[in-house]
Amino acid sequence: MASAIVALGGNVGDVRATFKKAIAHICGMAQAALVARSSDYTTPPWGDEDQNPFINACIEIETSLDPHALLFVTQKVEQKFGRIRAKERRWGPRTLDLDLIAYDDVSLKTPDLTLPHPHLFERAFVLVPLAEIAPDRMIGGRRVRDALASVSAQGIERLPDTD
Ligand code: ATP
Ligand code: CA
Ligand code: CA
Repeated sequence: MASAIVALGGNVGDVRATFKKAIAHICGMAQAALVARSSDYTTPPWGDEDQNPFINACIEIETSLDPHALLFVTQKVEQKFGRIRAKERRWGPRTLDLDLIAYDDVSLKTPDLTLPHPHLFERAFVLVPLAEIAPDRMIGGRRVRDALASVSAQGIERLPDTD
């Protein structure tokens, strides 16, 4: 079994409800189990500021899927929840984005999958939820809490739990 981190994001529709269903979907499979789930956070849009705020969260899963199989599964789940990649602009509005942040300490660069995620260390909207569930995890040679300390988390707010 491997330990994988998946980041969730979205800013179209009832994103928190989408997260709940998406997580249930991923972790309902025999090949993946939920280890930890962060709170949901509201975050300023990144890369393309002309859109609504995002909601972001992170989960840690234990999985027997290899990295590409996990990517395939997460892309299927994105599609199931209304993501239509062909109609989107880069970093623009979307119902659900699932990014693989880390998979054990695998380092990988293929045309469709880079691990750890190439923008992790620039993104407070990933590091804030990740630090909530795995502050001491080492990713790409850096400790999550130290990586978080080197970015600005301005505008990121934890949302109260819904149940
Ligand atoms: P970003 O990757 O900068 O967060 P994005 O999430 O908006 O941007 P997408 O359109 O969701 O980008 O994905 C573009 C491609 O990124 C996917 O088709 C996928 O093959 C590739 N990709 C590479 N590395 C990863 C990764 N670690 N997690 C998810 N997708 C990845
Ligand atoms: Ca993304
Ligand atoms: Ca993505």
